[in-house]
Amino acid sequence: MLTVHAFSMDRARLLELVVALGCEFSRRGMPDHCQRLRLYYLALQHGLDARRHRVEIHWDEELVIEWMRLLQLPPYQDHYRVRRETRCDRCESRPGTVVTKGVFPGGAKLECLQCGGEWLTLRPVGD
Ligand SMILES: [Zn+2]
Repeated sequence: MLTVHAFSMDRARLLELVVALGCEFSRRGMPDHCQRLRLYYLALQHGLDARRHRVEIHWDEELVIEWMRLLQLPPYQDHYRVRRETRCDRCESRPGTVVTKGVFPGGAKLECLQCGGEWLTLRPVGD
């Protein structure tokens, strides 16, 4: 589940996380994500991320955090369980109730529609 934070995190901290995420996108060969994140970084850095100077690049704090969870970057590396199986282990899920919520170089996020369980399946990524 995506945790919704009641308050925005400190801008300097968010910028640190954006840099860490950008490095990981680059390492995994995700140039489109890198580019959009770079724009988001510049907008944040220059305070252009709100009100009339809103930047329409579809990035926000929650997306940074979700990607860090997916790519297992600290401090979010343990948010999702990592499992090899594509069947849910929390309920007696029927076939077809587990769906792929997203894929990325190195893995995918799966969700059980029956109980809401979420986990990652991973495969090796070349450095
Ligand atoms: Zn389940």
